[in-house]
Amino acid sequence: MKRAIRYLRFSQLGQSNGSIERQELYTDQWIKFNDVELVDTFIDRGKSARTFDRPDFIKLQEFIAHHYKSVDYLLVDQLDRFSRDAGEAMSMVKKLQKKYSIQVVSVTEGITFDYETPGSFFRAGLQLLLAEEDNINRSIKVKGGIYTAKAKEGRFVFKNPPFGYKKEGERKERQLVVNEPEAKIVKFIFDAYLRDVPLYKIKEKAYELGFDRKGNMAIERVLSNPVHAGLLYVEAYKEYPGGFFPAIHEPIIDMTTWQMVQSKMKKPEKIRTVLDDEIPLRGILKCHCGNPLSGAPSRGKSGKYFYYYKCRFSKHNNISAIKAHDQFMGACELMSLTESKVKEIRNGCKSAIQIEMEGNKKKIKEKSQQLEDVHEKLFSVEEKWIKNEINRDTYDRWYSTYNHNIINLKGAIERLSKDQGKAFDILNKHLNLLTDIRYVYTQADTVHKREFISMVFDNNLYYQDGIYRTPTMMDMFSHNSLLMKEKGCLIYEKKRDNLAIIPPSRE
Ligand SMILES: [Zn+2]
Repeated sequence: MKRAIRYLRFSQLGQSNGSIERQELYTDQWIKFNDVELVDTFIDRGKSARTFDRPDFIKLQEFIAHHYKSVDYLLVDQLDRFSRDAGEAMSMVKKLQKKYSIQVVSVTEGITFDYETPGSFFRAGLQLLLAEEDNINRSIKVKGGIYTAKAKEGRFVFKNPPFGYKKEGERKERQLVVNEPEAKIVKFIFDAYLRDVPLYKIKEKAYELGFDRKGNMAIERVLSNPVHAGLLYVEAYKEYPGGFFPAIHEPIIDMTTWQMVQSKMKKPEKIRTVLDDEIPLRGILKCHCGNPLSGAPSRGKSGKYFYYYKCRFSKHNNISAIKAHDQFMGACELMSLTESKVKEIRNGCKSAIQIEMEGNKKKIKEKSQQLEDVHEKLFSVEEKWIKNEINRDTYDRWYSTYNHNIINLKGAIERLSKDQGKAFDILNKHLNLLTDIRYVYTQADTVHKREFISMVFDNNLYYQDGIYRTPTMMDMFSHNSLLMKEKGCLIYEKKRDNLAIIPPSRE
């Protein structure tokens, strides 16, 4: 009795079950009809038949190398299950027969391939070539279709809309439409990221607001998705260049914000700080040795917890959080502005905004002209390429340069067109709060408290010998610096302009 081994392959995704059942059915029939014993089965769960470099195929080859003497046939469903590369599959058939005397059988097609019989071998080759061509055509069609839809028509072509959008319309008419409640969350995520809110905290808040995408990188994915800025990323296809292309859908995030976020994401992430409302200064207040102070609770005799700020590297500092916060409150109180100072700021802002708006109008004009010029240049490069006056590399290079320029200019125009008046209205409404900084700080949540500190002290707030120290402080808040020192809250020793910031010396 002759013996056979079987090679089963899950074919393309989605049709695997039916295909496996069918393969088994045909194999059983073939075995019975030809009176052959089946000795082993190799199941390949690989998703692509493109090459032989798959784990189960390697096992199969090992098996053949060891047991070829007791095997006569290798049963496959169809020969193209073997490999999508016709040449590779054919040489496999040839090798099996010549080296191991094993014949390959396609059970569904009912063919036993025989390298020695030219007709059979030719037929096998032809079949494989057809399968290969079919495969190539399909992928060209799909890729070409995606390219056209994305690059030329600016249409979004994925199955599910990204967070912040919903799909409207069918097929070619289908497009992304802003989903307002979700868009608000997207804006929050971008905004918070630029304000240095730790990613885990952004995630927490986003979920509170109704964000529903799962996964460790869910927030990063939102931040890096060009769709939010009204762009589509398109892969190069044949002679067409890849890159970002303007989409037809409405952006949620302006171009400047998007670009700022992208360049920030490229930088290595800072040490992750976990926020704790009991110790808001952790990680932002620094020890005089330059390292950020860490903070932790310790349990007192009564069982109650007391919080401390400590230097992790030495016994430089070990401050009770209560003391540290009281001292800081003292400094805040003295940072408060007088009514007349607030009035001065209000008027200063008003005229500054007016001047800026005038300036912006001028800049918008300039940028619009530049944008027109770049469009013109792009058009002429396209024309040259069509007329064969330049080669593809040259075209690609200029295309991507101009496309990049266009995106930048559009972003600048968008930014400059923003209504500054609205921003001033908001500022105006809250300006009075500057007369009570202690209140402002106390009302703020931990994220805002930290922002406030890093902004006011330009990330240079230290602690040494029982007092806060800083070489940098916003002018507006430093009017009482002598009093702050007298009351033992904060020593502000302004760095001299021609000196770099030197943190207080290491012990
Ligand atoms: Zn230290």
